[in-house]
Amino acid sequence: MSRSCPRCGSQRVVFCNYGKRIGGYVGTVAGGMTGAATSTATGALAGTRIGMQVGVIAGPGGVGAGAVLGAITGAFAGCIAGLRLGKLVDDQLLYQHRCQDCHAHF
Ligand SMILES: [Zn+2]
Repeated sequence: MSRSCPRCGSQRVVFCNYGKRIGGYVGTVAGGMTGAATSTATGALAGTRIGMQVGVIAGPGGVGAGAVLGAITGAFAGCIAGLRLGKLVDDQLLYQHRCQDCHAHF
């Protein structure tokens, strides 16, 4: 999809989704940290439980595994939420196109 710049008429227009990019990044980091922290806090319980469900070998490693699992699921959930929020920001608030010739946002 190509459109021209309303200011200078240039065809060199790029689509920029700042909100989505930032939202996805922030969501991933925040979600990962929250997930890891939550799992570490309840690690002895949840981690071991998850570890035992995964396999009998888990034992004390269950806590660490639980934290990792929590971080991964947290990061994933955070990324999805961030992307969704970012898309909303893109659609509602931010300019979506940038002219490469006159640097206009529109
Ligand atoms: Zn332009």
